[in-house]
Amino acid sequence: MSKVIFHQPQGAGSISQGGLADQSSDTAAPVLDTRRRPLRDLRISVTDRCNFRCTYCMPREVFGASYKFMPHSSLLSFEEITRIAGVAVGLGVQKIRLTGGEPLLRKNIEALVAMLAGLRTPEGRPVEITLTTNGTLLEKKALALKQAGLSRVSVSLDALEEPLFERMSDSQVSVETVLRGIDEAARVGLAPVKVNMVVRKGMNDGQIVPMASHFRRSGHILRFIEFMDVGTTNGWNMSEVLTGAQILERISEVFPLEPVAAGYSGEVAKRWRYTDQAGEIGLITSVSQPFCGDCTRGRLSPEGKFFLCLFAGQGHDLRALVRDPAAGDAQIAAALSGIWSRRDDHYSEQRGQETAGREKIEMSYIGG
Ligand code: SAM
Ligand code: SF4
Ligand code: SF4
Repeated sequence: MSKVIFHQPQGAGSISQGGLADQSSDTAAPVLDTRRRPLRDLRISVTDRCNFRCTYCMPREVFGASYKFMPHSSLLSFEEITRIAGVAVGLGVQKIRLTGGEPLLRKNIEALVAMLAGLRTPEGRPVEITLTTNGTLLEKKALALKQAGLSRVSVSLDALEEPLFERMSDSQVSVETVLRGIDEAARVGLAPVKVNMVVRKGMNDGQIVPMASHFRRSGHILRFIEFMDVGTTNGWNMSEVLTGAQILERISEVFPLEPVAAGYSGEVAKRWRYTDQAGEIGLITSVSQPFCGDCTRGRLSPEGKFFLCLFAGQGHDLRALVRDPAAGDAQIAAALSGIWSRRDDHYSEQRGQETAGREKIEMSYIGG
C-alpha cells in the first residue's frame, strides 16, 4: 500500500470542517498530476456486490457462493463518502458518478445522492451527480433518485435478445425490466439516458445493429464500449475486442453517421450522429484509441481507498484518515492533493508487454 504523504496543497484552504467546500473562498487552483491533468471527476463505488454476474466483469466461477464480499462495517458511511467528496470538490472535482458493483443495491442510496447534491464548488456551482446501473431496480428508484438531485443515469444493456442477455449477465432478469427502467428514468427527467453496451466479439457483436436500430429516435444515447482487460478474472483476450472503428463500420453500413465535436475536454466517448437526425451514439475506445492524456478521473472504493486509474493495483487508504478524530478536512485535502499530484497512471497507453502480469483491481469493486 502506498503511503499517504501530507503537505498543504494549493487551494486546500477552502475546505470547511463540515466537509463541504467553503463557498465564500476564492477560486482554488486545480491540483494537477505529473502529466498536468487536473482532478475533475470522482467515481465513487458504493458496493462490491451485484445481482448480475456479467461474464466480462464478475464471472460466476470466481464470484460464486463462496466469494467473500466486503462486510458492511468496512464500507464508508454516507457521511464519510460525502466528506471525502466535499474535499475533492474543493480541489476541483465538478462531476461525481456513483457506481459499483450495483449501486442501487446499496440501501437508501437516494439519501447519499441528496447529500452529494448539496455540495458546491468553490465558485458556488452545484456538482453534477450521475450514476451507472444495470437497470434492474431503476424503474422503482428513478423518481426518488431524481427528487434527491441526481442529474442523469447510464444504464448497462448488452443485448436485446433475451437468451443472450441472460447468458451475458448470467441472471434471470429480463431485457424488458431494464428497458422499463430506462424509460422511467427518461420520464422522470434523468435524461438523456446513456445506454452502455460492452461489445465482446463472438458473443454479442451480432446485437450492435439491432441495438442501434432500437435506440435510434428514442432520445437515449447508445454507447458502445470496447471489451477491456479490467481486473484479472474475466479471461480478457485481444481477439475478443471489436474496435470502435469496426463497430462504427457495422452501424454505418445500415445507418449513415457523421462525427460530432466533443462536448468538453476529457469526454470519454467519441460522439457520432445519424445523418437522418435520428440521434447520436458514442464509442468508448479504451483499447484501440486510449484517452489517458485527458483522464481527469479519480476513484473511491467502497471502503475508502483512492485509486488513480481503472487498471491500478493499489489504492491509497483514506478511511483511516476520515475516521481519525484528530484529522480535519484540510488534512484530507492535503492527502488527496499529494496523492493526485504524484499520479503518472496511463495504463491504456502502455497496454501490452509492458503491462502483462500487473496486479489490477476488479471492475466490480471499483466501478466503470
Ligand atoms: N453494475 C453497474 C452497471 O453494470 O452498470 C455499474 C458498475 S459496472 C462495473 C460499470 C460499467 O462497466 C458497466 O457499463 C459495465 O458494462 C462496464 N464493464 C464491466 N466490465 C467491463 C469490461 N471488462 N470491459 C468493458 N466494460 C466493462
Ligand atoms: Fe454487475 Fe455491472 Fe459488473 Fe454486470 S457490469 S456484473 S451489472 S457490476
Ligand atoms: Fe484513465 Fe487509467 Fe483509463 Fe488511462 S487507463 S484513461 S489513466 S483510467
